[in-house]
Amino acid sequence: MNPEVTKLIRNASYIDGAWVENDQSFAVVDKANGDPIALVADASTDQMRQAIASAKVAFPAWAGLTAAARSQYLKKWYSLMMQHQDALAELLTREQGKPLAEAKGEIAYGAGYIDWFAEEARRIDGDILPAANGGQRIQVTKRPVGVVGAITPWNFPNAMIARKAAAALAAGCTFVVRPAAETPLSALAMAELAHQAGIPAGVLNVVVGTDAQGLGRELTQSKDVAKFSFTGSTRVGRILIADCANTVKRVSMELGGNAPFIVFDDADIDAAIEGAMVSKFRNAGQTCVCANRFLVQDRVFDEFVAKLSEKVKALRSGHGLDGVEIGPLITDKAAANVHKLVSSAVEQGAQVLLGGDWQQGAFYPPTILSGVNSEMDIFSQEIFGPVVTLVRFSTEDEAIALANDTEYGLASYFYARDIGRVHRVADALEFGMVGINEGIISNPAAPFGGVKQSGYGREGSKYGLDDYMSVQYRCLGGINRGN
Ligand code: ADP
Repeated sequence: MNPEVTKLIRNASYIDGAWVENDQSFAVVDKANGDPIALVADASTDQMRQAIASAKVAFPAWAGLTAAARSQYLKKWYSLMMQHQDALAELLTREQGKPLAEAKGEIAYGAGYIDWFAEEARRIDGDILPAANGGQRIQVTKRPVGVVGAITPWNFPNAMIARKAAAALAAGCTFVVRPAAETPLSALAMAELAHQAGIPAGVLNVVVGTDAQGLGRELTQSKDVAKFSFTGSTRVGRILIADCANTVKRVSMELGGNAPFIVFDDADIDAAIEGAMVSKFRNAGQTCVCANRFLVQDRVFDEFVAKLSEKVKALRSGHGLDGVEIGPLITDKAAANVHKLVSSAVEQGAQVLLGGDWQQGAFYPPTILSGVNSEMDIFSQEIFGPVVTLVRFSTEDEAIALANDTEYGLASYFYARDIGRVHRVADALEFGMVGINEGIISNPAAPFGGVKQSGYGREGSKYGLDDYMSVQYRCLGGINRGN
Protein backbone atom coordinates (compact mmCIF):
# COMPACT_ATOMS: atom_id res chain seq x y z
CA MET A 1 0.00 0.00 0.00
CA ASN A 2 1.18 3.50 -0.82
CA PRO A 3 2.74 5.02 2.38
CA GLU A 4 0.66 8.14 1.88
CA VAL A 5 -2.42 5.93 2.31
CA THR A 6 -1.05 4.21 5.40
CA LYS A 7 -0.48 7.64 6.97
CA LEU A 8 -4.21 8.34 6.71
CA ILE A 9 -5.43 5.09 8.27
CA ARG A 10 -6.86 5.54 11.77
CA ASN A 11 -8.06 2.63 13.88
CA ALA A 12 -10.48 4.20 16.31
CA SER A 13 -13.38 6.60 16.58
CA TYR A 14 -12.69 10.32 16.63
CA ILE A 15 -14.46 11.77 19.66
CA ASP A 16 -13.89 15.18 21.23
CA GLY A 17 -10.74 15.71 19.18
CA ALA A 18 -9.10 12.40 20.19
CA TRP A 19 -8.86 8.80 18.93
CA VAL A 20 -10.84 6.62 21.30
CA GLU A 21 -9.91 2.95 21.58
CA ASN A 22 -12.10 0.09 22.72
CA ASP A 23 -11.50 -3.57 23.64
CA GLN A 24 -13.58 -4.88 20.77
CA SER A 25 -12.50 -4.41 17.19
CA PHE A 26 -13.67 -5.27 13.71
CA ALA A 27 -11.87 -5.91 10.45
CA VAL A 28 -12.09 -3.76 7.36
CA VAL A 29 -11.31 -5.69 4.20
CA ASP A 30 -10.50 -4.95 0.58
CA LYS A 31 -13.83 -5.50 -1.16
CA ALA A 32 -12.29 -6.89 -4.35
CA ASN A 33 -10.17 -9.65 -2.81
CA GLY A 34 -11.04 -9.86 0.89
CA ASP A 35 -7.52 -8.91 2.04
CA PRO A 36 -7.52 -7.30 5.48
CA ILE A 37 -6.79 -3.56 5.46
CA ALA A 38 -7.15 -2.63 9.13
CA LEU A 39 -8.61 -3.58 12.47
CA VAL A 40 -10.74 -0.80 13.89
CA ALA A 41 -11.98 -0.29 17.46
CA ASP A 42 -15.68 -1.12 17.58
CA ALA A 43 -17.33 1.81 19.34
CA SER A 44 -19.77 1.21 22.16
CA THR A 45 -23.04 3.00 22.76
CA ASP A 46 -21.34 4.72 25.73
CA GLN A 47 -18.77 6.13 23.37
CA MET A 48 -21.55 7.38 21.13
CA ARG A 49 -23.02 9.17 24.14
CA GLN A 50 -19.61 10.72 24.83
CA ALA A 51 -19.47 11.95 21.26
CA ILE A 52 -22.91 13.54 21.55
CA ALA A 53 -21.92 15.13 24.87
CA SER A 54 -18.74 16.58 23.37
CA ALA A 55 -20.69 17.99 20.43
CA LYS A 56 -23.10 19.60 22.88
CA VAL A 57 -20.26 21.22 24.82
CA ALA A 58 -18.55 22.41 21.65
CA PHE A 59 -21.72 23.90 20.16
CA PRO A 60 -21.94 27.36 21.78
CA ALA A 61 -18.37 28.35 20.93
CA TRP A 62 -18.62 27.03 17.37
CA ALA A 63 -21.98 28.71 16.79
CA GLY A 64 -20.55 31.88 18.30
CA LEU A 65 -17.70 32.16 15.82
CA THR A 66 -18.05 34.60 12.99
CA ALA A 67 -19.16 33.10 9.72
CA ALA A 68 -15.79 34.12 8.30
CA ALA A 69 -13.97 32.11 10.96
CA ARG A 70 -16.03 28.98 10.34
CA SER A 71 -15.50 29.46 6.64
CA GLN A 72 -11.72 29.52 7.13
CA TYR A 73 -11.77 26.20 8.98
CA LEU A 74 -13.82 24.62 6.20
CA LYS A 75 -11.51 26.03 3.53
CA LYS A 76 -8.54 24.50 5.30
CA TRP A 77 -10.30 21.15 5.54
CA TYR A 78 -11.17 21.35 1.86
CA SER A 79 -7.55 22.10 0.92
CA LEU A 80 -6.25 19.17 2.93
CA MET A 81 -8.76 16.82 1.31
CA MET A 82 -7.62 17.92 -2.13
CA GLN A 83 -3.94 17.69 -1.17
CA HIS A 84 -4.55 14.09 -0.15
CA GLN A 85 -6.92 13.29 -3.00
CA ASP A 86 -4.86 10.40 -4.38
CA ALA A 87 -4.31 8.73 -1.01
CA LEU A 88 -7.94 9.18 0.05
CA ALA A 89 -9.04 7.75 -3.29
CA GLU A 90 -6.83 4.67 -2.98
CA LEU A 91 -8.12 4.01 0.52
CA LEU A 92 -11.69 4.44 -0.71
CA THR A 93 -11.17 2.06 -3.62
CA ARG A 94 -9.73 -0.58 -1.32
CA GLU A 95 -12.41 -0.45 1.34
CA GLN A 96 -15.36 0.23 -0.98
CA GLY A 97 -14.41 -1.38 -4.28
CA LYS A 98 -15.15 1.35 -6.83
CA PRO A 99 -12.64 2.03 -9.63
CA LEU A 100 -9.86 4.44 -8.69
CA ALA A 101 -10.90 7.09 -11.22
CA GLU A 102 -14.36 7.16 -9.64
CA ALA A 103 -12.87 7.26 -6.15
CA LYS A 104 -10.78 10.29 -7.13
CA GLY A 105 -13.94 11.85 -8.49
CA GLU A 106 -15.74 11.17 -5.22
CA ILE A 107 -13.00 12.84 -3.17
CA ALA A 108 -13.20 15.96 -5.35
CA TYR A 109 -17.00 15.83 -5.26
CA GLY A 110 -17.09 15.50 -1.46
CA ALA A 111 -14.46 18.20 -1.00
CA GLY A 112 -16.50 20.36 -3.38
CA TYR A 113 -19.31 20.47 -0.81
CA ILE A 114 -16.89 21.59 1.87
CA ASP A 115 -15.65 24.34 -0.42
CA TRP A 116 -19.19 25.30 -1.38
CA PHE A 117 -20.47 25.53 2.19
CA ALA A 118 -17.32 27.38 3.29
CA GLU A 119 -18.59 30.10 0.96
CA GLU A 120 -22.29 29.73 1.81
CA ALA A 121 -21.43 30.13 5.51
CA ARG A 122 -20.76 33.80 4.78
CA ARG A 123 -24.12 34.33 3.16
CA ILE A 124 -26.44 33.25 5.97
CA ASP A 125 -28.52 36.35 6.34
CA GLY A 126 -31.76 37.33 8.01
CA ASP A 127 -34.74 39.37 6.89
CA ILE A 128 -36.78 42.42 7.81
CA LEU A 129 -40.46 41.98 6.93
CA PRO A 130 -43.22 44.58 6.67
CA ALA A 131 -44.92 44.75 10.07
CA ALA A 132 -48.63 44.44 10.78
CA ASN A 133 -48.69 47.86 12.43
CA GLY A 134 -46.51 50.93 12.43
CA GLY A 135 -45.35 50.44 16.00
CA GLN A 136 -43.62 47.19 15.28
CA ARG A 137 -40.74 45.79 13.29
CA ILE A 138 -40.46 42.15 12.21
CA GLN A 139 -36.95 40.72 12.23
CA VAL A 140 -36.09 37.23 11.10
CA THR A 141 -32.79 35.60 12.02
CA LYS A 142 -31.45 32.17 11.18
CA ARG A 143 -29.78 30.14 13.88
CA PRO A 144 -27.97 26.80 13.91
CA VAL A 145 -30.21 24.07 15.27
CA GLY A 146 -27.57 22.56 17.59
CA VAL A 147 -26.01 19.10 17.59
CA VAL A 148 -26.58 17.17 14.36
CA GLY A 149 -26.53 13.37 14.28
CA ALA A 150 -26.00 11.53 11.02
CA ILE A 151 -25.85 8.00 9.66
CA THR A 152 -24.24 7.44 6.29
CA PRO A 153 -23.99 4.52 3.85
CA TRP A 154 -21.07 2.67 2.27
CA ASN A 155 -21.65 3.57 -1.39
CA PHE A 156 -20.08 7.04 -1.11
CA PRO A 157 -18.04 6.76 2.11
CA ASN A 158 -16.53 10.21 1.72
CA ALA A 159 -19.08 12.36 -0.08
CA MET A 160 -22.15 11.40 1.94
CA ILE A 161 -20.37 12.59 5.08
CA ALA A 162 -18.86 15.66 3.44
CA ARG A 163 -22.12 17.05 2.21
CA LYS A 164 -23.83 16.72 5.58
CA ALA A 165 -20.89 17.75 7.76
CA ALA A 166 -19.95 20.74 5.61
CA ALA A 167 -23.46 22.17 5.70
CA ALA A 168 -23.86 21.51 9.42
CA LEU A 169 -20.53 23.10 10.32
CA ALA A 170 -21.10 26.06 8.02
CA ALA A 171 -24.45 26.73 9.69
CA GLY A 172 -22.79 26.68 13.13
CA CYS A 173 -23.93 23.22 14.21
CA THR A 174 -21.69 20.54 15.67
CA PHE A 175 -21.76 17.07 14.22
CA VAL A 176 -21.67 13.37 15.13
CA VAL A 177 -21.67 10.79 12.35
CA ARG A 178 -21.85 7.02 12.38
CA PRO A 179 -20.58 5.81 9.00
CA ALA A 180 -21.39 2.37 7.63
CA ALA A 181 -19.21 -0.32 9.23
CA GLU A 182 -18.21 -1.58 5.75
CA THR A 183 -16.34 1.67 5.03
CA PRO A 184 -15.15 3.40 8.22
CA LEU A 185 -11.63 4.22 7.05
CA SER A 186 -12.54 6.97 4.60
CA ALA A 187 -14.61 8.60 7.34
CA LEU A 188 -11.77 8.40 9.86
CA ALA A 189 -9.31 9.79 7.31
CA MET A 190 -11.65 12.76 6.86
CA ALA A 191 -11.65 13.21 10.64
CA GLU A 192 -7.83 13.15 10.66
CA LEU A 193 -7.75 15.91 8.04
CA ALA A 194 -10.37 17.92 9.94
CA HIS A 195 -8.12 17.57 12.98
CA GLN A 196 -5.14 18.81 10.95
CA ALA A 197 -7.29 21.71 9.76
CA GLY A 198 -7.64 22.73 13.40
CA ILE A 199 -11.39 22.24 13.63
CA PRO A 200 -11.94 22.43 17.41
CA ALA A 201 -12.51 19.32 19.54
CA GLY A 202 -16.14 18.18 19.67
CA VAL A 203 -17.22 20.02 16.51
CA LEU A 204 -16.85 16.93 14.30
CA ASN A 205 -17.08 13.42 15.75
CA VAL A 206 -16.86 10.17 13.80
CA VAL A 207 -18.06 7.11 15.69
CA VAL A 208 -17.34 3.81 13.94
CA GLY A 209 -18.84 0.53 15.04
CA THR A 210 -20.75 -2.52 13.96
CA ASP A 211 -23.76 -2.07 16.24
CA ALA A 212 -25.85 -0.20 13.67
CA GLN A 213 -29.04 -0.28 15.72
CA GLY A 214 -27.51 0.50 19.11
CA LEU A 215 -25.34 3.36 17.87
CA GLY A 216 -28.16 4.63 15.70
CA ARG A 217 -30.60 4.63 18.57
CA GLU A 218 -28.29 6.79 20.68
CA LEU A 219 -28.43 9.41 17.95
CA THR A 220 -32.14 9.20 17.21
CA GLN A 221 -33.28 9.08 20.83
CA SER A 222 -30.94 11.63 22.37
CA LYS A 223 -32.52 14.83 23.66
CA ASP A 224 -29.21 16.54 22.93
CA VAL A 225 -29.35 15.82 19.21
CA ALA A 226 -31.47 18.53 17.61
CA LYS A 227 -31.40 17.26 14.08
CA PHE A 228 -30.90 13.91 12.42
CA SER A 229 -29.79 13.32 8.84
CA PHE A 230 -29.72 9.95 7.14
CA THR A 231 -28.67 8.62 3.77
CA GLY A 232 -29.56 5.00 3.10
CA SER A 233 -32.41 2.73 2.22
CA THR A 234 -36.08 3.62 2.54
CA ARG A 235 -36.51 0.51 4.70
CA VAL A 236 -34.05 1.75 7.33
CA GLY A 237 -35.17 5.36 6.88
CA ARG A 238 -38.69 4.48 7.96
CA ILE A 239 -37.36 2.97 11.20
CA LEU A 240 -35.18 6.00 11.92
CA ILE A 241 -37.99 8.50 11.24
CA ALA A 242 -40.09 6.66 13.80
CA ASP A 243 -37.19 6.63 16.28
CA CYS A 244 -36.78 10.40 15.92
CA ALA A 245 -40.43 11.01 16.75
CA ASN A 246 -39.96 10.66 20.52
CA THR A 247 -37.81 13.76 20.71
CA VAL A 248 -39.51 15.57 17.80
CA LYS A 249 -36.23 16.02 15.98
CA ARG A 250 -35.80 17.76 12.73
CA VAL A 251 -35.12 15.02 10.23
CA SER A 252 -33.78 14.87 6.71
CA MET A 253 -33.80 11.68 4.72
CA GLU A 254 -31.98 10.83 1.50
CA LEU A 255 -33.50 7.43 0.80
CA GLY A 256 -33.74 4.99 -2.04
CA GLY A 257 -34.52 5.70 -5.66
CA ASN A 258 -35.91 3.94 -8.69
CA ALA A 259 -34.79 6.26 -11.43
CA PRO A 260 -36.41 6.06 -14.84
CA PHE A 261 -34.15 6.78 -17.80
CA ILE A 262 -36.42 7.65 -20.70
CA VAL A 263 -35.18 7.76 -24.28
CA PHE A 264 -37.65 9.47 -26.61
CA ASP A 265 -37.54 9.04 -30.35
CA ASP A 266 -36.31 12.60 -30.92
CA ALA A 267 -33.30 12.03 -28.61
CA ASP A 268 -29.66 12.27 -29.60
CA ILE A 269 -29.09 8.52 -29.23
CA ASP A 270 -25.31 8.71 -28.88
CA ALA A 271 -25.68 11.23 -26.08
CA ALA A 272 -28.29 8.99 -24.46
CA ILE A 273 -25.90 6.03 -24.62
CA GLU A 274 -23.15 8.07 -22.99
CA GLY A 275 -25.54 9.23 -20.25
CA ALA A 276 -26.89 5.71 -19.77
CA MET A 277 -23.42 4.26 -19.24
CA VAL A 278 -22.38 6.73 -16.54
CA SER A 279 -25.77 6.79 -14.89
CA LYS A 280 -26.10 3.00 -14.77
CA PHE A 281 -22.59 1.68 -14.28
CA ARG A 282 -20.99 4.23 -11.95
CA ASN A 283 -20.10 2.45 -8.70
CA ALA A 284 -21.26 -0.81 -10.37
CA GLY A 285 -24.83 0.47 -10.16
CA GLN A 286 -24.71 1.04 -6.41
CA THR A 287 -25.99 4.60 -6.19
CA CYS A 288 -29.42 5.83 -5.19
CA VAL A 289 -29.57 7.95 -8.36
CA CYS A 290 -28.57 5.14 -10.74
CA ALA A 291 -30.82 4.61 -13.72
CA ASN A 292 -32.96 1.67 -12.62
CA ARG A 293 -35.44 1.38 -15.47
CA PHE A 294 -34.68 2.20 -19.09
CA LEU A 295 -37.84 3.22 -20.93
CA VAL A 296 -37.15 3.41 -24.65
CA GLN A 297 -39.54 4.52 -27.38
CA ASP A 298 -40.43 2.05 -30.15
CA ARG A 299 -38.78 3.81 -33.08
CA VAL A 300 -35.33 4.04 -31.45
CA PHE A 301 -35.46 0.89 -29.32
CA ASP A 302 -33.35 -1.38 -31.53
CA GLU A 303 -30.73 1.26 -32.21
CA PHE A 304 -30.45 2.13 -28.51
CA VAL A 305 -30.14 -1.51 -27.46
CA ALA A 306 -27.55 -2.34 -30.13
CA LYS A 307 -25.35 0.61 -29.26
CA LEU A 308 -25.72 0.10 -25.51
CA SER A 309 -24.84 -3.60 -25.80
CA GLU A 310 -21.59 -2.74 -27.58
CA LYS A 311 -20.58 -0.39 -24.76
CA VAL A 312 -21.60 -2.77 -21.99
CA LYS A 313 -19.67 -5.64 -23.58
CA ALA A 314 -16.53 -3.52 -23.44
CA LEU A 315 -16.71 -2.93 -19.66
CA ARG A 316 -13.88 -4.56 -17.73
CA SER A 317 -14.40 -5.86 -14.20
CA GLY A 318 -11.69 -6.30 -11.59
CA HIS A 319 -9.87 -4.66 -8.72
CA GLY A 320 -10.57 -0.95 -8.72
CA LEU A 321 -6.85 -0.16 -8.64
CA ASP A 322 -6.27 -2.06 -11.91
CA GLY A 323 -7.79 0.44 -14.34
CA VAL A 324 -11.16 -1.30 -14.70
CA GLU A 325 -14.61 0.25 -15.10
CA ILE A 326 -16.50 -2.14 -12.82
CA GLY A 327 -15.47 -3.16 -9.31
CA PRO A 328 -17.07 -5.65 -6.95
CA LEU A 329 -20.37 -5.07 -5.22
CA ILE A 330 -20.03 -4.31 -1.54
CA THR A 331 -20.54 -7.94 -0.45
CA ASP A 332 -21.29 -11.37 -1.89
CA LYS A 333 -24.74 -11.02 -0.39
CA ALA A 334 -25.34 -7.83 -2.36
CA ALA A 335 -24.49 -9.72 -5.56
CA ALA A 336 -26.82 -12.55 -4.52
CA ASN A 337 -29.63 -10.01 -4.03
CA VAL A 338 -29.07 -8.58 -7.49
CA HIS A 339 -29.09 -12.06 -8.95
CA LYS A 340 -32.35 -12.86 -7.21
CA LEU A 341 -34.00 -9.87 -8.90
CA VAL A 342 -32.56 -10.86 -12.28
CA SER A 343 -33.60 -14.52 -11.90
CA SER A 344 -37.11 -13.68 -10.88
CA ALA A 345 -37.48 -11.25 -13.80
CA VAL A 346 -36.29 -13.99 -16.18
CA GLU A 347 -38.77 -16.44 -14.66
CA GLN A 348 -41.48 -13.89 -15.35
CA GLY A 349 -40.50 -13.56 -18.99
CA ALA A 350 -37.63 -11.06 -19.25
CA GLN A 351 -34.91 -11.95 -21.77
CA VAL A 352 -31.20 -11.83 -20.95
CA LEU A 353 -29.41 -9.96 -23.74
CA LEU A 354 -26.07 -9.90 -21.93
CA GLY A 355 -24.55 -11.17 -18.66
CA GLY A 356 -26.89 -12.51 -16.02
CA ASP A 357 -24.66 -15.49 -15.18
CA TRP A 358 -23.55 -15.40 -11.57
CA GLN A 359 -22.68 -18.21 -9.22
CA GLN A 360 -20.86 -16.63 -6.28
CA GLY A 361 -18.63 -13.78 -5.17
CA ALA A 362 -19.02 -10.02 -5.07
CA PHE A 363 -18.53 -9.39 -8.79
CA TYR A 364 -21.75 -9.23 -10.75
CA PRO A 365 -21.46 -9.32 -14.55
CA PRO A 366 -22.79 -6.26 -16.38
CA THR A 367 -26.20 -7.42 -17.53
CA ILE A 368 -28.93 -6.30 -19.94
CA LEU A 369 -32.50 -7.54 -19.60
CA SER A 370 -35.17 -6.86 -22.19
CA GLY A 371 -38.94 -7.33 -21.96
CA VAL A 372 -39.17 -6.01 -18.41
CA ASN A 373 -42.62 -4.89 -17.22
CA SER A 374 -44.16 -3.20 -14.21
CA GLU A 375 -45.31 -6.52 -12.70
CA MET A 376 -41.73 -7.58 -12.03
CA ASP A 377 -39.87 -6.93 -8.76
CA ILE A 378 -36.92 -5.61 -10.73
CA PHE A 379 -39.14 -2.80 -12.00
CA SER A 380 -40.28 -1.69 -8.56
CA GLN A 381 -37.16 -2.31 -6.45
CA GLU A 382 -33.79 -0.61 -6.33
CA ILE A 383 -31.41 -2.98 -8.17
CA PHE A 384 -28.13 -1.63 -6.75
CA GLY A 385 -26.09 -3.54 -9.30
CA PRO A 386 -24.86 -3.30 -12.91
CA VAL A 387 -28.11 -4.39 -14.53
CA VAL A 388 -29.93 -2.57 -17.34
CA THR A 389 -33.66 -3.29 -17.52
CA LEU A 390 -35.35 -2.36 -20.80
CA VAL A 391 -39.01 -1.43 -21.15
CA ARG A 392 -40.40 -0.49 -24.54
CA PHE A 393 -43.07 2.20 -24.88
CA SER A 394 -45.05 3.90 -27.67
CA THR A 395 -46.39 7.24 -26.43
CA GLU A 396 -45.20 10.07 -24.22
CA ASP A 397 -48.12 9.56 -21.84
CA GLU A 398 -47.25 5.90 -21.48
CA ALA A 399 -43.62 6.77 -20.65
CA ILE A 400 -44.67 9.27 -17.99
CA ALA A 401 -47.10 6.83 -16.41
CA LEU A 402 -44.43 4.11 -16.31
CA ALA A 403 -41.81 6.52 -14.94
CA ASN A 404 -44.05 7.68 -12.10
CA ASP A 405 -45.25 4.16 -11.31
CA THR A 406 -43.02 3.86 -8.22
CA GLU A 407 -43.11 4.76 -4.55
CA TYR A 408 -39.75 6.48 -5.04
CA GLY A 409 -39.08 10.00 -6.27
CA LEU A 410 -35.36 10.73 -6.22
CA ALA A 411 -33.63 11.08 -9.60
CA SER A 412 -35.05 10.72 -13.10
CA TYR A 413 -33.52 11.18 -16.54
CA PHE A 414 -34.82 11.69 -20.02
CA TYR A 415 -33.39 12.36 -23.44
CA ALA A 416 -35.35 14.45 -25.93
CA ARG A 417 -34.65 17.43 -28.18
CA ASP A 418 -38.17 18.74 -28.79
CA ILE A 419 -38.46 21.79 -26.55
CA GLY A 420 -42.17 21.38 -25.88
CA ARG A 421 -41.65 17.78 -24.89
CA VAL A 422 -38.74 18.71 -22.64
CA HIS A 423 -40.98 21.01 -20.60
CA ARG A 424 -44.03 18.74 -20.65
CA VAL A 425 -42.12 15.72 -19.45
CA ALA A 426 -40.13 17.58 -16.78
CA ASP A 427 -43.39 19.03 -15.43
CA ALA A 428 -44.99 15.59 -15.30
CA LEU A 429 -42.16 13.71 -13.59
CA GLU A 430 -42.73 13.24 -9.86
CA PHE A 431 -39.09 13.31 -8.86
CA GLY A 432 -36.86 15.63 -6.83
CA MET A 433 -34.26 15.70 -9.59
CA VAL A 434 -34.52 15.53 -13.36
CA GLY A 435 -31.56 15.05 -15.67
CA ILE A 436 -32.50 16.29 -19.14
CA ASN A 437 -29.98 15.10 -21.70
CA GLU A 438 -27.57 14.48 -18.79
CA GLY A 439 -26.73 11.22 -17.01
CA ILE A 440 -24.88 12.69 -14.03
CA ILE A 441 -26.48 15.58 -12.24
CA SER A 442 -25.08 15.76 -8.68
CA ASN A 443 -22.90 18.72 -7.79
CA PRO A 444 -22.48 21.06 -4.82
CA ALA A 445 -24.28 23.96 -6.50
CA ALA A 446 -27.50 21.95 -6.95
CA PRO A 447 -30.11 20.81 -4.41
CA PHE A 448 -29.92 17.02 -4.08
CA GLY A 449 -32.98 15.28 -2.66
CA GLY A 450 -36.18 13.43 -3.27
CA VAL A 451 -39.94 13.41 -2.97
CA LYS A 452 -42.39 10.60 -2.13
CA GLN A 453 -40.69 7.74 -0.27
CA SER A 454 -37.24 8.89 -1.38
CA GLY A 455 -37.30 11.29 1.55
CA TYR A 456 -37.13 14.98 2.25
CA GLY A 457 -34.55 17.68 2.80
CA ARG A 458 -31.99 18.96 0.31
CA GLU A 459 -28.20 18.70 0.30
CA GLY A 460 -25.96 21.15 -1.54
CA SER A 461 -26.81 24.53 -3.07
CA LYS A 462 -28.20 27.55 -1.26
CA TYR A 463 -31.06 25.33 -0.03
CA GLY A 464 -28.66 22.93 1.69
CA LEU A 465 -28.21 25.10 4.77
CA ASP A 466 -31.93 25.34 5.54
CA ASP A 467 -32.02 21.87 7.09
CA TYR A 468 -29.43 22.92 9.66
CA MET A 469 -30.96 26.20 10.73
CA SER A 470 -34.10 27.35 12.42
CA VAL A 471 -35.78 30.68 11.89
CA GLN A 472 -36.33 32.99 14.83
CA TYR A 473 -38.90 35.73 14.39
CA ARG A 474 -38.49 38.78 16.60
CA CYS A 475 -41.35 41.20 17.00
CA LEU A 476 -39.91 44.52 18.06
CA GLY A 477 -42.63 46.74 19.50
CA GLY A 478 -43.02 50.13 21.11
CA ILE A 479 -41.49 51.93 18.19
CA ASN A 480 -44.13 54.70 17.96
CA ARG A 481 -44.02 55.48 21.71
CA GLY A 482 -41.48 58.27 21.62
CA ASN A 483 -40.74 60.49 24.63
P1 ADP B 1 -27.82 -1.64 4.67
O1 ADP B 1 -27.50 -1.82 6.13
O2 ADP B 1 -28.59 -2.75 4.06
O3 ADP B 1 -26.68 -1.14 3.86
P2 ADP B 1 -28.81 0.99 4.42
O4 ADP B 1 -28.23 1.20 3.07
O5 ADP B 1 -30.11 1.62 4.70
O6 ADP B 1 -28.94 -0.53 4.71
O7 ADP B 1 -27.75 1.47 5.49
C1 ADP B 1 -27.39 2.82 5.59
C2 ADP B 1 -26.73 3.03 6.92
O8 ADP B 1 -27.68 2.76 7.96
C3 ADP B 1 -25.53 2.14 7.21
O9 ADP B 1 -24.60 2.93 7.92
C4 ADP B 1 -26.12 1.05 8.07
O10 ADP B 1 -25.14 0.49 8.91
C5 ADP B 1 -27.13 1.84 8.88
N1 ADP B 1 -28.22 1.06 9.45
C6 ADP B 1 -28.79 -0.06 8.96
N2 ADP B 1 -29.81 -0.48 9.76
C7 ADP B 1 -29.89 0.40 10.79
C8 ADP B 1 -30.74 0.55 11.95
N3 ADP B 1 -31.73 -0.29 12.20
N4 ADP B 1 -30.52 1.60 12.76
C9 ADP B 1 -29.54 2.48 12.51
N5 ADP B 1 -28.72 2.40 11.44
C10 ADP B 1 -28.89 1.39 10.59
